[in-house]
Amino acid sequence: MLSNTTAGIHHVTGIASDPQRNVDFYAGVLGMRMIKRTVNFDDPTTYHFYFGDARGTPGSILTFFPWPDARRGRQGAGQIAVASFAILPSSVGFWIERFIRYHVDFSQPTSRFDDERVIAFKDPDGFMAELVAHPGAESRSGWQTHAVPADHSIRGVYSITLWQESCDLTGKLLTETLGFEAVREQASIFRYAAGDRGPGTIVDLRCVPGLWPGVMGAGTIHHVAFRAPDDAAQAEIRTELVSLGFNVTPQIDRDYFHSVYFREPGGVLFEIATDPPGFTVDEPLESLGQALKLPQWLEPRRFEIEALLPNIQTPMELHGPNA
Ligand code: ZN
Repeated sequence: MLSNTTAGIHHVTGIASDPQRNVDFYAGVLGMRMIKRTVNFDDPTTYHFYFGDARGTPGSILTFFPWPDARRGRQGAGQIAVASFAILPSSVGFWIERFIRYHVDFSQPTSRFDDERVIAFKDPDGFMAELVAHPGAESRSGWQTHAVPADHSIRGVYSITLWQESCDLTGKLLTETLGFEAVREQASIFRYAAGDRGPGTIVDLRCVPGLWPGVMGAGTIHHVAFRAPDDAAQAEIRTELVSLGFNVTPQIDRDYFHSVYFREPGGVLFEIATDPPGFTVDEPLESLGQALKLPQWLEPRRFEIEALLPNIQTPMELHGPNA
């Protein structure tokens, strides 16, 4: 067992199509804070949006690459099919009313693992998500807007669900290298958790032998990042992964965290991201997400980049209750 293991999920990144619709849904309807507006560092003519709690705490973060012309993807085997978000048990009624009002495609709440109430829903691109009502949400922070008060706010990522042709090797990677423990099992779902095992630390592996393969595109999840406390811990995990034969990238500076990437045995892209430096590294906490931020190496091209990016209006909800 490594001395430095992950504390759970750092962020989840999905693919969207229309950037404005993406902001309207996550910052508007769901009331998450837009904590960073930047570009895709690997494709600087397109946006990269970050949503999360008030400060973008690791574990609260959902990010999107909105490609205006992206084709619709399809959930299937070899993918993270579902991203789940934590809410308080007392918020279920609030969210059902809100989803009805905004014509969100959702299902009536169901029970899972005795202590979870789950509202499955889809965003406008078909991204499969859930609100999971669980008492553990109490210990996680959120954001508040005019429309979504703090009591009902989304309390970060709850879990992710991987659909896998075969679950064994992924389970072994989670437990033997990344510091997860197998904690529960129900039907074809094998649950793993890291750290304090609360919201934001949970990975569900769902075995779906014979299911069609997933197709990457709008409405699908691109990758998940797990937390490393610092560069040294990340380097230790990286060394271990390399010794096991995984093809891991060198460390890449993502400005708000440092990352390494590799594909897990089922084909899903995994990232290990450091907690520091965080989202206040290039703008103050009060105004996170309001201005377009670029990495230093792209600043000389700002004029050209801004001209190519579509204009985005931020919903009122972005600016908090006192705006
Ligand atoms: Zn990432």
